[in-house]
Amino acid sequence: MLNEPVGTVAGAGALLAILRDGQARTRAELVQLTGLARSTVSQRLDALLTHQWIVPTEDAISSGGRPAVAFAFNSSARVVLSADLGATHARVAVTDLATTVLAERTSDLAIDKGPEPTLQWLLDTFLEFLDETGHTVEQVCGVGVGLPGPVEHASGRPINPPIMPGWDGFPVPKWLGERLGAAVLVDNDVNIMALGEHWAARPEADQLVFVKIGTGIGCGIISDRRLHRGAQGAAGDIGHVRVSSAADVVCRCGNTGCLEAVAGGASVAAKLAAAGVPASNSRDVVNLVRQGNTQAVQLIRQAGREVGDVLASIVNFFNPAVIVIGGDIAEAGEHVLAGVREVIYSRSLPLATQHLSIRTSELGDRAGVVGAAVMVIEHVLAPGTVDRAVLR
Ligand SMILES: [Zn+2]
Repeated sequence: MLNEPVGTVAGAGALLAILRDGQARTRAELVQLTGLARSTVSQRLDALLTHQWIVPTEDAISSGGRPAVAFAFNSSARVVLSADLGATHARVAVTDLATTVLAERTSDLAIDKGPEPTLQWLLDTFLEFLDETGHTVEQVCGVGVGLPGPVEHASGRPINPPIMPGWDGFPVPKWLGERLGAAVLVDNDVNIMALGEHWAARPEADQLVFVKIGTGIGCGIISDRRLHRGAQGAAGDIGHVRVSSAADVVCRCGNTGCLEAVAGGASVAAKLAAAGVPASNSRDVVNLVRQGNTQAVQLIRQAGREVGDVLASIVNFFNPAVIVIGGDIAEAGEHVLAGVREVIYSRSLPLATQHLSIRTSELGDRAGVVGAAVMVIEHVLAPGTVDRAVLR
C-alpha cells in the first residue's frame, strides 16, 4: 500500500473531470460513480483539495444519518488570461475556470506594428487586469491568444500571416510565457471563435462549423465536440476555395477565383464604392444594410449565396448539426443568413440538411475571447495535465 499513493493520486484528473459539471458530490457518490475503492477516492480528493481544484461545499448533504460533506469544482482556483487580437482592434479579458469574465476591455490595436510592441501592450494590459481584479501572476494557470492569421498549432507560431508583417515564425508562447510564467496557447481567431460559440451557446452539438465573414473568410470546425485543426493547423481555410463566379477576380493571396475575393467584407465594400456608395470596410457595409440601402442589401445577400455555395459542399462532406455565421458581416443578420440558407438547402443532400441549424453567432464579437479562455481551460483541466500538476 505504501508504494501505491503516486499511482492512486494520478487518477485525480479523471475525478476532477466528473466534478467539472458543477454538481457537488459526496465521497460515497463518487465511489459509486467511479467504482473505485473508498480509500482511492479519498486520496484523490485530498490531492485535489490540496491544490484547491475543489472545495467542500457549505451545505452538507444528509442521507438519513450523519450529514456527509460534498465536494465541488472550484472555478475560482486560478485565473485565465485571454486575448482576441484582430487586424485593427483587440479584446482582452481575465476569466475564471468557468469562463466567467472578471475583467474585459476592447482597444484599437494595429497588429501590423509587429509582435514586440503588440505583445508588450498585451502584457501590460494583462498585468493591469490582474491588479484590478486582485489576483497575482502566480494564480494565472494559462494564457490564450487568438491571432488573425494562420498559426502552426504545435509551436503557436504564426506562419506567413498575410496581414501581420514581422510576425512570421515569431515565438509568441515563449515571449509571453517567459514573462508570465504560465502556459501560453495560440491559435487563429476563427478556431477560438468556434470553441467559444460551441462552449457557450451550443455545447450539445457534436459537429459544428463556425464561419467567420469579416474582411476575410474562414471557418473553425468542431468534430465530436473537439476542435479539428488538421495536420498543421490549417483546416477550415475556406476563404481561398475557388468559386466559379470569381473566375478572374484577383485575391489578396495572389490567386484568382477565391471565395474571399467575391464575398469578403472588403470585396463587398469595394463593389459599393465602385457603384458610388461610400464604403471602405465590412463595418461600413453592415451600417449601410442596417440603414436599408438596397444595393448593400442585395450585395450582402449575394455574398451569403457565394459563401453558401462553398458551405453546401462542406455540409455534404462533413454533415454538421449546426452552422454558425459570425464575424463583422454576420451583424447584417437575416440578409446574409438568407443567402447562405438559400443555397445550402437547395444544393446539399436532404439527409444532411434535415435537421441542420444555420444561425448567426450568439456571442458575437465576444466569441473569440471566450474561446481563447476555453482553449486554456480545456488544456489545464485535461486529466493528464491535472495529474502532472498534483504530482509536482
Ligand atoms: Zn485567395
